[in-house]
Formats: sequence, C-alpha cells, structure tokens
Amino acid sequence: MARYTDAVCRLCRREGMKLYLKGERCYTDKCSVTKRNFAPGQHGTGRKKLSNYGMQLREKQKAKRFYGVLESQFRTYFEMAERQPGITGENLLRLLESRLDNVIYRLGLAASRAQARQLVVHGHFTINGKKVNIPSYLVEAGDIIEVVERSKNSPHFKEIKEAFKGTVPEWLSMDIEKLEGKIVSLPSREDVDLPIAENLIIELYSK
Ligand code: SF4
Repeated sequence: MARYTDAVCRLCRREGMKLYLKGERCYTDKCSVTKRNFAPGQHGTGRKKLSNYGMQLREKQKAKRFYGVLESQFRTYFEMAERQPGITGENLLRLLESRLDNVIYRLGLAASRAQARQLVVHGHFTINGKKVNIPSYLVEAGDIIEVVERSKNSPHFKEIKEAFKGTVPEWLSMDIEKLEGKIVSLPSREDVDLPIAENLIIELYSK
C-alpha cells in the first residue's frame, strides 16, 4: 500500500503540533516542532484563521497522520463506524485505536506507530498463536499478542525490555518478561488520549 514517505516532521509542522511519528527524536530538542513551530513552505510563518470546513479538514488530516492511515482506508473506517451501534465518532476512534500497529505501539513494543507497522509487516508477532503481518488487523477483547520466538532475543526486543516503563493503557496488559500483551477490553473514548475532535471529522464526512 502507498504510504506518505516525505519528511514526516513536515506533517507535524503542518498540524502545528507533535504527532510523535519518529519515536525517541520526538522527545528531544531535535524535534522540528520544538525548533520551528510554523507550517512548512514559503508562507508557513503566517498561519491563517481557518474556516469551519478548514478546521474539519485539518482535524481529519491530523487523525489520519497520527495513525498513519491513508484517505481511502480512513473513509472505510468512517463507514464501518457509521454502521456500528453507538456514537459514530467514538466508534471511529475505537477502530483506529484497535489497529494492530497502534496496539503494538501502545504496548511499548515499538517507539512509534511507523516502527510498529514495520515490525508487524516483518512478521514479529502472533495473535492467539497465529502469525499476523497485517498492520490494519483489528484486535478484539481477549486477544493475546506475542513476539514470535525467533525474535525474542533480537536487539530490538532486548532494548524494549530494558526501556519498558512498567505501564500500558488500562485497556491493555503487558507481561514484558514474556513479551506478551493482552487486549483486556476494547478502548473507550476516555482511553484515547490524542487531541482529536472527532465530531469535526464526522461533520466533514456527513456533508
Ligand atoms: Fe513530529 Fe516527532 Fe518530527 Fe517532532 S520529531 S516533528 S514530534 S515526527
């Protein structure tokens, strides 16, 4: 699938906030938002006041960029969210948050969602004992995610074990010694700590 491969820091500068797309670097003074917090391009220093439509569009772009999802797939999530019972905006965030690459990141097994995606594609994980290499795979409550045996002693996962801070979001649990995570329950709106105003996205797609 095609992905955005231009300098990802430009995406953060475009949104005027950290999207945490680069792992460790995002927490240092090297972060481009820290150094140059204005939009990229010739006219970047003068941010214009946004129209309603502009705000809705920016909110959607921000959500897509946080999760590394392209337009067509994002719209598919919206359509799925609409068909589900409950509040469409909350359903949308739950679907995005349930992607396997996001869950790997949330479990602390990768420094960023982009790195998580790469690890998934390279076949480093099983779900309920079966290898899954699809980043968009949607997890379910009760699923057990484990690092495959051959990868457990790799330098990446050794580093992950050493750097593990001991906490994961409440809807997940993690046994860092076994490199095994569990989906305790699917996330609620309160579990999604990203600054996304999902109502603006719903308004945009409902036009
Ligand atoms: Fe965004 Fe991270 Fe780049 Fe900072 S370092 S601009 S948070 S991707």
